[in-house]
Amino acid sequence: MRLYDSMSQEKREFVPRDKDRVTMYFCGPTVYNYVHVGNARPFVVSMVAKRYFESLGYRVTLVENITDIDDRIIQRGITEARPASAVAAEFAQAYRDDTDRLGLGRPDIEPLATEHVGDIVALIESLVKRGHAYQTGSDVYFKVASYPSYGRLSKQQVGEMRHGARINVDENKADPLDFALWKGAKAGEPAWDSPWGPGRPGWHIECSAMSLKYLGAGFDIHGGGRDLIFPHHENEIAQAEGALDQPFVRFWMHNGMLNLTEVKMSKSLGNILTLRDVLDRYRPEALIAAFLGSHYRSPLEFSAELLAETEQQVDRLRNVFRELADAAASAGTASGAAASGASGDAPDVALLERVATRRQAFADALSDDLNTAAALAEVFGLAREANAALAAGELTTQAATQVRAGMMEMVHTLGLDGVAGGEETIPAEVTQMAEERQRCRAAGEYSRADALRSALTERGYEVRDVPGGFKVLKVR
Ligand SMILES: [Zn+2]
Repeated sequence: MRLYDSMSQEKREFVPRDKDRVTMYFCGPTVYNYVHVGNARPFVVSMVAKRYFESLGYRVTLVENITDIDDRIIQRGITEARPASAVAAEFAQAYRDDTDRLGLGRPDIEPLATEHVGDIVALIESLVKRGHAYQTGSDVYFKVASYPSYGRLSKQQVGEMRHGARINVDENKADPLDFALWKGAKAGEPAWDSPWGPGRPGWHIECSAMSLKYLGAGFDIHGGGRDLIFPHHENEIAQAEGALDQPFVRFWMHNGMLNLTEVKMSKSLGNILTLRDVLDRYRPEALIAAFLGSHYRSPLEFSAELLAETEQQVDRLRNVFRELADAAASAGTASGAAASGASGDAPDVALLERVATRRQAFADALSDDLNTAAALAEVFGLAREANAALAAGELTTQAATQVRAGMMEMVHTLGLDGVAGGEETIPAEVTQMAEERQRCRAAGEYSRADALRSALTERGYEVRDVPGGFKVLKVR
């Protein structure tokens, strides 16, 4: 696999540090509110990357932190007259609930900053000891001048950065570029004990401490949104490499931002910006497909139109899966032997060849810097071909089973399992309406039959005639 590395700014052959294990760390959210839909993009990218590496046979350890101590959390606690820890606990749980709805599973480890203060203090102590950090008052700062390669991820010169930088009045640092590792407690703020007195960790240090703790130096992939390159990831590198004298990370993987332009938003999505609001309106697979339809490094024009379009795409996919399942089951076990005997059937052979070709193209796309857009196009293309074969009644039981299995593997890797599994139950009243329509048609009451069909369409269902009678499909 070739993977783009934001540090070297090129695609390089990906070979993991450990023989059969891939180690990944992605920066997670700060939990002071419901997460924005933009926070879901790095989550989806990391989970799909994990699935892809698993499909190649690697074990994957994916660590994704939750920042549960921060100025904004403290501020919300003050505003709402409750402890900062209560604010963080509420929104950390909301984040887990919301991302659970995506159906992608969870990262292997989701460390909380407040549960790793000991590790953080130990890392700061070693930076102080090595001359990379200094105490001033009850704060501790990283000394950027002590780390000559500062700026190499964000491609900035220290001299130029210093030129525009200023020191805030409440900061006692020696150099405007220095950043806080430890913040002495102000009255009423949550605090932990440390060699520098009671206080709390700065934001950047938690990610260095927790990634090194769980993955060790030189782990494979560190990811997050592009907006984290500077200063967050630049600072993470300085902290980790300053303490260890070893390379911190092998590949830096940054996803592009969601572009939610005002005009588009006010027209279409209104104020829907949180992940939970989007998932209240659209299927999770529609959101995942919207993300995967663009390369992860590209900015993504995000709109209601895009979600409506991907929702239709995943619904078509869902229907093809359902029909393939029906076709695979229709002949039952009795004709299974006959079907396998008739495997020389030409349309079947042609479609199975398409499956093999498309699966190869799918694998090639993902191995090229996780090109999910091209991979997804192969899935949709195969679904169209399968649909045509189904419509022509050309598929044997065995072929339907094989096509379905091939497509299943592809959608699993992309985290779109939802379209393949979970038989959606059709509500009883919908089935009754469909039965009534059939009865009307049989009795020649065509206008009533048409009215029932419209009513079903309105509710998102479609009645399709099949050899054995009819079938109800959910189409949106
Ligand atoms: Zn981070």
